[in-house]
Amino acid sequence: MNRLHSQSEWISRAREVLPAAGFGNFDASIVIARGEGSRVWDEDGNEYVDYLIGSGPMLLGHGHPEVMEAVLEQLPKGMTFFANNARGIELAEAIVDAVPCCEQVRFVTSGSEADMYAIRLARAFTGKSRILKFEGGYHGMSAEAQMSLAPMKQVNFPTAVPDSAGIPQGVADEMLIAPFNDLDAVAGLLNEHSDIAAIIVEPLQRIIPAKPGFLQGLRDLCTKHGVLLIFDEIVTGFRLAYGGAQERYGVTPDICTLGKIIGGGFPLAALGASAEIMAHFDKATVGAEKWLMQLGTLSGNPVASAAGLKTMEILRRPGQYERLRQLGQTLMDMQTEALNAVGVSHRICGDPTLFDIYFTDADPIDYRSARHRDPAVNEAWNATLRRNGVFKSPGKLYPSLALDEEDLDLTRRAIEQ
Ligand code: PLP
Repeated sequence: MNRLHSQSEWISRAREVLPAAGFGNFDASIVIARGEGSRVWDEDGNEYVDYLIGSGPMLLGHGHPEVMEAVLEQLPKGMTFFANNARGIELAEAIVDAVPCCEQVRFVTSGSEADMYAIRLARAFTGKSRILKFEGGYHGMSAEAQMSLAPMKQVNFPTAVPDSAGIPQGVADEMLIAPFNDLDAVAGLLNEHSDIAAIIVEPLQRIIPAKPGFLQGLRDLCTKHGVLLIFDEIVTGFRLAYGGAQERYGVTPDICTLGKIIGGGFPLAALGASAEIMAHFDKATVGAEKWLMQLGTLSGNPVASAAGLKTMEILRRPGQYERLRQLGQTLMDMQTEALNAVGVSHRICGDPTLFDIYFTDADPIDYRSARHRDPAVNEAWNATLRRNGVFKSPGKLYPSLALDEEDLDLTRRAIEQ
């Protein structure tokens, strides 16, 4: 292919100017040139079926024509105003209609920011300070969520460690960590500490599902102890179902955070709760003492809102989630069949809308045994898929609605190699 710059040239340029070669903590060996529908192409022109989809946002695939049209309609009207705008208001309405715990929402520009403000909001509302979270949970990169840096530090499955570089110990002291799926441990910590403001949890933690009754158990414990329950739905929102994990599992938290899909691929995230809780963003209502100040130059910008709004409109059409689950289930079955055929012991873990493989005999739903996922085997598997035209994150496989029969056939062949 006659290109001005090969992929390896781009990679060596990245090494000069981007620490860890940019997205190097994941995979610095690839530079993506473009995406269209279910596929991406690297700078050498190699084509892949994309199961990373930008780490989740591109549920409809890349460059969806209707989403592009909505964006192109907004662009000539201005990119951002730092003021209320109709697209942002419509997007807020669509989220409030869809997500059970949201009577009001607040826009920010990343999931990390949404989680940070959710934690601050819980503190403002309860007047308490500690946050309880779960081993292996990830809630973005803010200091508030610092314990969750731990999973990124350890190659194998995570144990939280209170020593993240650049973050003062005082922040860590405000955190309590319980094992995921262990209600007794949570109850013990709630009995022991009276200063817990909130429990924050991913309803599907990375790809590990909550055990039956775990989320409802958290709900009940929170209500009993006057603690707020925060669902981090950055990944699960508009993926597990239109109303996210709350709709799928029938448990309503007090606060939730949303990101990825709601921005249609642009930097936009949100947090939402009841009007009573959200009142803390309004100085006139709660007074200066209890006011939680939040500002962001690009928060709620109309281009991102237009993309998110159109994405959500498409997702509301009949049959979309049935189709997504069906595609995911087909992919899960395909992998099981191929690996069984060659006698490789493995478990598929997650939900048809988001899953991955554990190369282990251990039960992946048992959080602690899930640590036995062997990173070397996992890496080798991902590299094999990549060589055969399948692009995925190191720890997850996201199906998109852009997938078609040809993509599935190509994937089947890649798995069978
Ligand atoms: N929370 C969860 C569950 C996530 O998966 C992520 C990102 O992957 C975040 C928070 C942080 O979101 P962002 O990367 O937009 O800051």
